Amino acid sequence: MSQVLVVVDHLDGVVSRPVLEALTAARGLGEAVAVAVGSGSGAAVERLGEYGATEVVVCEDPSVTSVLVAGVVELLARLVGERAPLAVLVPSTPEGKEIAGRLAVRIDGGVLTDVVEVRWDGGELRAVQAAFGGSTMVTSRVRRGVPVLTWRPNSLAATPAPVSPRVTEAPAPTISGGHARVRATRMAAASGRPALTEASVVVAGGRGVGSAENFRLIEELADALGAAVGASRAATDAGWLPHTAQVGQTGATVSPDLYIACGISGAIQHLAGMQTAKTIVAINKDPEAPIFQVADFGVVGDLHTIVPQLTAEIRARRVQE
Ligand SMILES: Cc1cc2nc3c(=O)[nH]c(=O)nc-3n(C[C@H](O)[C@H](O)[C@H](O)COP(=O)(O)OP(=O)(O)OC[C@H]3O[C@@H](n4cnc5c(N)ncnc54)[C@H](O)[C@@H]3O)c2cc1C
Repeated sequence: MSQVLVVVDHLDGVVSRPVLEALTAARGLGEAVAVAVGSGSGAAVERLGEYGATEVVVCEDPSVTSVLVAGVVELLARLVGERAPLAVLVPSTPEGKEIAGRLAVRIDGGVLTDVVEVRWDGGELRAVQAAFGGSTMVTSRVRRGVPVLTWRPNSLAATPAPVSPRVTEAPAPTISGGHARVRATRMAAASGRPALTEASVVVAGGRGVGSAENFRLIEELADALGAAVGASRAATDAGWLPHTAQVGQTGATVSPDLYIACGISGAIQHLAGMQTAKTIVAINKDPEAPIFQVADFGVVGDLHTIVPQLTAEIRARRVQE
């Protein structure tokens, strides 16, 4: 059976959920082969096998990740040359999209971003893409070379299909040229909340929250729900939350089961990052705010009154459970 390469996004062997979704999708096309690079890759093998990776290509040589994405691209280009896979699937993160674009140039293939579904159709691989921020679904195909697809998180339920993968140690690729080099890394402080792009519930605040201190209301609601905290660009530009919390065209793309937007107007650039959420709740004091056009449930009012009441009610119901 022909292979589908799945690029593994992991931190010291802890695999991100979009990778498990990509493996699930890859199994429907061919033999899923995971490619894990960087420190701790070997620790990811068991988890990747649980989701059907029949082979895990591992490269823990620090030189691969010392040059940002360049080393991963070199390694993938070599694997594509050796194995002629049906496709390469990469998680649709900013880093994953950079890997995909560079790889497609290197192998003279085509790249499709924000893919939510893959299938065979008339002997050709078709990919459904969430375009224009998820407002339009487009069925596309790559007409030349090996397709490189970036997999949009939360697009399908990852399902286990346990196998014992064989492990292939890949030699580090030769990386030439003047690449930016990683001199040191520092871990961000852990919030204890789920990762924004992987959370099934996201509570987000915008300019209407009013201040960094007031974001405590958003965080308390998020904690009552076990949710991640997001923000509009207005809120992150104001320094109320780090830019890693920004949702939208130039921030994170999220697709949770529930997205609660508090004091966010619903600019098109914000909608681009969240409108594929399954249920959207908007709290805004302006009944004409565009966010209400995409919301499943809307509350018109002052978030400083509504959000604490909502948090208290959720906490009370949780205690009763
Ligand atoms: C190239 C480009 C890329 C961009 N990328 C992004 C992006 O990735 N993500 C993003 O979010 N934006 C992005 N933007 C910015 C975007 O255009 C908007 O400016 C931004 O989303 C507005 O944020 P906001 O909704 O928080 O603020 P505003 O538009 O100012 O809305 C604040 C809302 O809060 C409501 N409000 C005020 N007080 C209260 C209260 N007490 N209770 C309840 N509601 C209240 C108001 O009625 C209003 O609707 C981008 C813009 C450009 C040009």
